Amino acid sequence: AVQVRRAVKSFDGVRVLDEVDLTVHPGQVVALIGPSGSGKSTLLRAINHLERLDTGVVSVHGELIGVRAHGDRLKELGEREILRQRSRIGFVFQGFNLFPHLTVLDNITEAPVVTQRRPKARAREEARELLARVGLADKAAAYPRQLSGGQQQRVAIARALALRPEVVLFDEPTSALDPELVGEVLGVIRDLAAAGTTMVVVTHEIAFAREVADAVVFLDRGRVVEQGPAWQVIDHPEHERTREFLRRVS
Ligand code: ATP
Ligand code: MG
Repeated sequence: AVQVRRAVKSFDGVRVLDEVDLTVHPGQVVALIGPSGSGKSTLLRAINHLERLDTGVVSVHGELIGVRAHGDRLKELGEREILRQRSRIGFVFQGFNLFPHLTVLDNITEAPVVTQRRPKARAREEARELLARVGLADKAAAYPRQLSGGQQQRVAIARALALRPEVVLFDEPTSALDPELVGEVLGVIRDLAAAGTTMVVVTHEIAFAREVADAVVFLDRGRVVEQGPAWQVIDHPEHERTREFLRRVS
């Protein structure tokens, strides 16, 4: 499970995360929704320790992320430990951030081989399996620039999965795509959900969240305003702020 406890983060004196609690159980899909600037990306980045919390903690499968207890204080882990922890957490961004000078296959095997020191032949074999899974078995030798945005994003998903992460975080994985390419990426995420992948998905695709997410969390101004099963939060929101947001986006 991923646990976020009383996460607080300020930028320039403004609280962007304000005592956020979040639990993601193994196999669960949590959709994170909320207005622009509500702290969704900051929360995802904190889970991966790309942002350091002011106070509060994140743990994945019981292991604190980025810090360790030192008496009654928290001490920052070293770079190597942070990288090791990050390799347990997949991250898929809005922009696909593939390495432009590497083929699709090499994009996927880079981290398993270099960071996790897996045998290259095995990593390549697994990369081909992952490519088949995202519907791109025939693109192994292509370069990112030769692919559509939707294809690039599916490669980015395969790349994240190649590290065999315990949880995969998606930050608006379809918002940079042309509308006709959104469906193919959501389809891959839907398949991952069906296969029991633990995921947190920041999304503006409310219909998708309702269909795929086990739980929906509505964040506003750094606070969790409402959370619960998708049918509850999306179809029967309790709070006026949630209702107002949903009216605006749907
Ligand atoms: P969006 O839907 O637009 O992506 P979001 O919910 O992901 O929004 P965040 O990116 O988490 O929002 O940002 C929350 C707030 O924190 C915003 O007001 C943003 O300007 C601010 N912020 C985020 N990162 C930084 C930073 N590195 N320095 C200063 N302010 C920041
Ligand atoms: Mg964001």
